[in-house]
Amino acid sequence: MSSYWLSETPPERAQVTVEDPEVVIVGAGVTGCAAALRLAQAGKRVRLHDARGVAEGASGRNGGFALRGMPTAFDVTAESVGEAEAVALTAWTERAIDSIESLAGDAFRRVGSLRVAVDEEERVELRAEYEALVAAGFAAEWVDRFEPPYEDRFTAALRHVPDGVLQPARWVRRLAGHAAAAGVEIREHSRVSSLEELGGATVVVCTDGYPSGLLGSIEGLIIPTRGQVIATEPVPERVFEVPHYGRHGFDYWHQTPDGRIVAGGFRDVSFDSEFTADERLTEPVQSALQAFVNGLLGRELRVDYAWAGIFGMVMDFLPVVGRVPGLDDVWVAGGYSGHGNVLGFACGELVAAAVSGAEDPLLRHFAPARLLNLGS
Ligand SMILES: Cc1cc2nc3c(=O)[nH]c(=O)nc-3n(C[C@H](O)[C@H](O)[C@H](O)COP(=O)(O)OP(=O)(O)OC[C@H]3O[C@@H](n4cnc5c(N)ncnc54)[C@H](O)[C@@H]3O)c2cc1C
Repeated sequence: MSSYWLSETPPERAQVTVEDPEVVIVGAGVTGCAAALRLAQAGKRVRLHDARGVAEGASGRNGGFALRGMPTAFDVTAESVGEAEAVALTAWTERAIDSIESLAGDAFRRVGSLRVAVDEEERVELRAEYEALVAAGFAAEWVDRFEPPYEDRFTAALRHVPDGVLQPARWVRRLAGHAAAAGVEIREHSRVSSLEELGGATVVVCTDGYPSGLLGSIEGLIIPTRGQVIATEPVPERVFEVPHYGRHGFDYWHQTPDGRIVAGGFRDVSFDSEFTADERLTEPVQSALQAFVNGLLGRELRVDYAWAGIFGMVMDFLPVVGRVPGLDDVWVAGGYSGHGNVLGFACGELVAAAVSGAEDPLLRHFAPARLLNLGS
């Protein structure tokens, strides 16, 4: 069984050839496609490689949540980088969601997201984030109780109003179409084995959790981490229109327009085995996901799709964007710690601007060289 999102037939796109590229991008997920589009619009000759097809890495295998902010809650981010910086970072991701909405068409539904509490401790944490968001002027709503049959299961929720949900493979394939239309050559099934084979072009490595072998001193410091997801048979009742996530993001689920429950997470049932770049499914996580969806709907559901993907974890939960230390004219954008749908798009644009000579002040939070000093 494979990704429900990738089961859709890819759309046609312009076939482009670029001679003597100025910039070569490795990785045709959301980051690489966003960077490619932006660089082509800036007039650069761009070639984009992927070892597989467009969106066939994490970008076509994820939960579909399009969330604002950093991987940590707003108040936690404010503690680590400062209030004003957390505001700037969150506002930047909200603008990225606006851009996604303008480019994604029917691959994006802007329905908000619900971060739910499963116990009193999580309720207190959510309340602290809610109050910090509202005090900083961001749109957020507090949900004090759930309707039956979920009133005992979830004790409260924080609604992130600007968020939404993607059909992520459709979105990134569409983004690749925009990039090709802007003049980007896309070479699928074309693994880049060494920097030397790229003929001196500027290189941007956009491989997030997948080991590329191209990152020199920081190779492996964006830690490959496996996520597993299932999609059930379509169910007639509409119960989770809005993406829900709870237990600190360890469980996440929503319902697709055709009625399937898509659910992912439960890495914590066998924590150590999930730090891997192997896309195999495992029994403990699959059983936990199946039991979870059965519990949500109160009956046994058939699982039609089950898949895994790899994302890149970083110990300080901030993305990694900038020049790769020790390498000449090689850049990286990745390390979204499981929150790459919006951050990947935003960081792809950020690295593209930097390559074109416009380094955004936000980049100081994302310096790749810091990985050399972080414990793993
Ligand atoms: C199961 C799962 C659930 C997730 N859920 C969510 C979610 O709900 N919301 C959210 O925001 N984020 C989520 N994420 C994270 C998100 O999917 C990723 O952070 C994001 O898609 C990364 O995009 P990317 O373009 O940087 O990398 P990817 O989409 O992973 O693309 C990297 C590409 O690089 C290619 N590659 C690697 N090495 C080479 C090489 N040497 N030569 C050529 N090509 C190479 C790979 O083939 C791959 O296609 C999830 C991730 C997983 C795995």
